[in-house]
Amino acid sequence: MEKEVISRNFIEQIIDKDLAEGKYEKICTRFPPEPNGYLHIGHAKSILLNYGLAQEYNGQFNLRFDDTNPTKEKMEFVESIQKDIEWLGADWKDHLYFASDYFPQMYEAAVSLIKKGKAFVCDLSAEEIREYRGTLKEPGKNSPYRDRSIEENLELFERMKNGEFEDGSKVLRAKIDMSSPNINMRDPVIYRIAHMSHQRTGDKWCIYPMYDFAHPIEDAIEGVTHSICTLEFEDHRPLYDWVVNEVGYEHPPKQIEFAKLYLTNVVTGKRYIKKLVEEGTVDGWDDPRLVSIAALKRRGFTPDSLKKFVETVGVAKANSSVDYAQLEFCIRDDLKMKDARMMAVLDPVKLIIDNYPDDKIEYVEVPNNKDNEELGTRMVPFGKELYIEREDFMEIPPRKYFRMFPGNEVRLMNAYFVKCTGFEKDENGNITEIHCTYDPESKGGNSPDGRKVKGTIHWVAAKTAFRGEVRLYENLIDEEKGVYNEDGTMNINPNSLTVLTGCYMEPALGEAKAYDSFQFVRNGFFCADAKLSSPGAPVFGRIVSLKSSFKMPK
Ligand code: ATP
Ligand code: MG
Repeated sequence: MEKEVISRNFIEQIIDKDLAEGKYEKICTRFPPEPNGYLHIGHAKSILLNYGLAQEYNGQFNLRFDDTNPTKEKMEFVESIQKDIEWLGADWKDHLYFASDYFPQMYEAAVSLIKKGKAFVCDLSAEEIREYRGTLKEPGKNSPYRDRSIEENLELFERMKNGEFEDGSKVLRAKIDMSSPNINMRDPVIYRIAHMSHQRTGDKWCIYPMYDFAHPIEDAIEGVTHSICTLEFEDHRPLYDWVVNEVGYEHPPKQIEFAKLYLTNVVTGKRYIKKLVEEGTVDGWDDPRLVSIAALKRRGFTPDSLKKFVETVGVAKANSSVDYAQLEFCIRDDLKMKDARMMAVLDPVKLIIDNYPDDKIEYVEVPNNKDNEELGTRMVPFGKELYIEREDFMEIPPRKYFRMFPGNEVRLMNAYFVKCTGFEKDENGNITEIHCTYDPESKGGNSPDGRKVKGTIHWVAAKTAFRGEVRLYENLIDEEKGVYNEDGTMNINPNSLTVLTGCYMEPALGEAKAYDSFQFVRNGFFCADAKLSSPGAPVFGRIVSLKSSFKMPK
């Protein structure tokens, strides 16, 4: 087969050039999560991109917690993030770092800026700083504290560190240019006072560095060469470069921005997921309708499917939304050869074979996956009373309906030909049972005399069936209507979860363990829900249906 030539993405082109010019000998990338929530599919993209580049170039990949803002951070998230990254298969080896470990170096860097006359302590309030900053059209004004002497700044900054001042009463600002067309360069705040306990450093510090100051220093200390972040930081790059130059790192890292991943009909932002969790719309950060990594794992997505998804999405410089169907395409593609194809009847109605021996149970041999012989076969019990899908029978069939209706012969998948002889209804007109006769000569579902049937339906033997719960999902957000209603509430799809409690399945499915996934023939791919299943009582959730009109974009 001819190998497809994939053009190198723009980040690879930058790296190729840097290496060719001898700018770096070995590349180093990092994933820098703030431990303030669970990771989502957007983060997966960033993780796989950074890890993938490090692997591709024989470089190093760091996991660094960007824990410089203790307000929202928790150890719980530090742990869940590591678990999720491990599951994705990105191996940081022993390169696990915490930005909070660099607080002493960051403090020293700030002192060195003060000594160079490049930073000053400012007493303006947050609101005044905003007023002085100017607008996109108008330049800002210098702070009246801008010309404090170096000695005074050194003393005040040390006293800030020592806890002598209240939160918000003073900040340390870089001294750059209040008339810069880039607002980020208008004497940005680089340290603030916050008398807050930090999850790792406790009460050691009461001043904390701001992201734009901390991040380049973290990268530089670790020897990161290519610091890949999302597009909204593009305007911050001049400040990033200013910090690494003024602090004076020998091998300055380089910031490269790429477009965030957005998916249609889902929410990715931590804030929104948090809101859904807190309002009880979903059953936790790992609710299978969400796209946090924990949720995707619980839903039955595989690391391979996410890798494929990220690869097919590519890296771009312009923001755009990716169709959720593209993610579904990738998981379908991954599971279709791997998963056993089992029979489960989600909306059951009884089928009785009148000419079949009353108490007989026989076993029919069924291939686990007819497209992958390596998965072997299994024996499935068959008997006189079966369950079939309610939609596989019609009293009065429309044209081109080839499944069961009175007088019609169909194939029970891998078992026998059966001919419908009648049915019964309750007083409300609901079909309660269907009757048929079978042809003993058609065992295996093969025609004994060359006669053909057009319909093949799946079934489960009533006597040996596992009766259990199956959950069907739809997108949580109805994007056609917009993510938000006018009153600011979210536009939740009322049908995002359907719980089916009386489903009948092959007995083998009763043994399924958490995260086991299967194709339920004709119904889709399903996974045993890790949170809802218990031994001997799995609850299955649909990962994805079988069909889609989605075509992978070229
Ligand atoms: P969110 O705003 O979605 O909660 P975040 O950007 O606050 O996410 P961080 O922990 O600060 O989350 O980000 C860690 C890394 O993941 C950053 O490098 C960030 O650029 C990247 N990242 C976050 N969201 C996306 C996304 N949707 N697509 C690609 N990368 C992302
Ligand atoms: Mg963030």
